[in-house]
Amino acid sequence: MTWVRLLLALAALVAAMPAAARDVAVVGARLYAAPDAAAIDDSIVLIHDGRIAAVGRHGGVAVPDDADRIDARGKVLTAGFWNSHVHLTTDLLIAPDRASDAALGDALAAMFTRWGFTTIFDLASTMAGANEIRSRITDGRVAGPQILTAGEPFYPTGGTPVYARPIYAQHRLPSAEIRSTDEAVARVDRQVGEGADGIKLFTGAIVGGETGVLVMPAAQVRAIAAEAHRHGRPVFAHPTNGAGVQVAVENGVDILAHSAPLMGAWPADFAHDLAQRHVALIPTLSLFEHYPAEATPVAIAVQQVRALAEAGGDILFGTDAGFMDVYDTSAEYRLLAGAIDWRAILAALTTTPARRFGQSGSRGRIAPGMVADLVLLDGDPARDTTAFAHVWMTLKDGRAIFRAGD
Ligand SMILES: [Zn+2]
Repeated sequence: MTWVRLLLALAALVAAMPAAARDVAVVGARLYAAPDAAAIDDSIVLIHDGRIAAVGRHGGVAVPDDADRIDARGKVLTAGFWNSHVHLTTDLLIAPDRASDAALGDALAAMFTRWGFTTIFDLASTMAGANEIRSRITDGRVAGPQILTAGEPFYPTGGTPVYARPIYAQHRLPSAEIRSTDEAVARVDRQVGEGADGIKLFTGAIVGGETGVLVMPAAQVRAIAAEAHRHGRPVFAHPTNGAGVQVAVENGVDILAHSAPLMGAWPADFAHDLAQRHVALIPTLSLFEHYPAEATPVAIAVQQVRALAEAGGDILFGTDAGFMDVYDTSAEYRLLAGAIDWRAILAALTTTPARRFGQSGSRGRIAPGMVADLVLLDGDPARDTTAFAHVWMTLKDGRAIFRAGD
């Protein structure tokens, strides 16, 4: 090989290598680094290799000359949001192997990243579908959030919810009903082995007809929850009514995936009991407003959120996107403002899920060393909580995965 050919070969090799990512500086925003942190106006956040390298006031952080600058003057900067209750069950997301990368990216943007979500917890879909979507995100083929999944849910025997039956029929999915306690425990092991990050139980399944709500037997809840905990996985419950809440909280469930207005207002001592047991609540208030029913007034759900927050319990933000086909988060923020203040809402979006799901060392706050998952808002939630829905840009691992106007 001549020297020239060797040099050409080397040049081709270098060209084929990914360029070293340049540092990114987000400049000029009002920064809320954490729910309990004072605002920093005219801030700088410097990102190196997908992590936050420095945080401070303009002038207090040296920005390399060749850094990419994001002019964020007039915007509000927070840590990336978590949506702790979604479903990867739209027609496109439940069969992602048939979707192009572009179509998948568009669907994830419309549902999640466009609303500032850099992490989502999928509370029932299929392990195969969820794994396919997240592998295409981690491969870099598709822009999308970090996906945690509960995979296939656990319904009581005979308890596939009325609204879920058409999905099982249309997509020819195997039943997710519990056949026996042993079989359910074995399925926990299998799903964790396949990558499940949590386990979802329908402790109160809406089956309609004369039964109405089918409650999961306590022994099954206890056995499944214990197996999930043995693997270090959190257990979620769809409770529906008082019996569904009770069997969940008394048998090891960690997180109620909905409030339960059907059971009425929560007295302070009941809310204290939930907080003592470290049971967290995902309010999904807009769900109850979107499907109004006399028996489930949203005002009761708002009261339950307020009662648990006042008792010191954990609130996790979640919308049930995927079951809900309205993805705009404005209504959820408007309703939550009736129960908790904007800083508590920011905690429900960031620090609380990061802590509950074992990532508080890497996500949930803006601080040196943390993953650069960030949201820029066009508006200040301190003034109007619906500003949390006015997302101007979403960054994951320091890269913009959504920009308003694109
Ligand atoms: Zn749901």
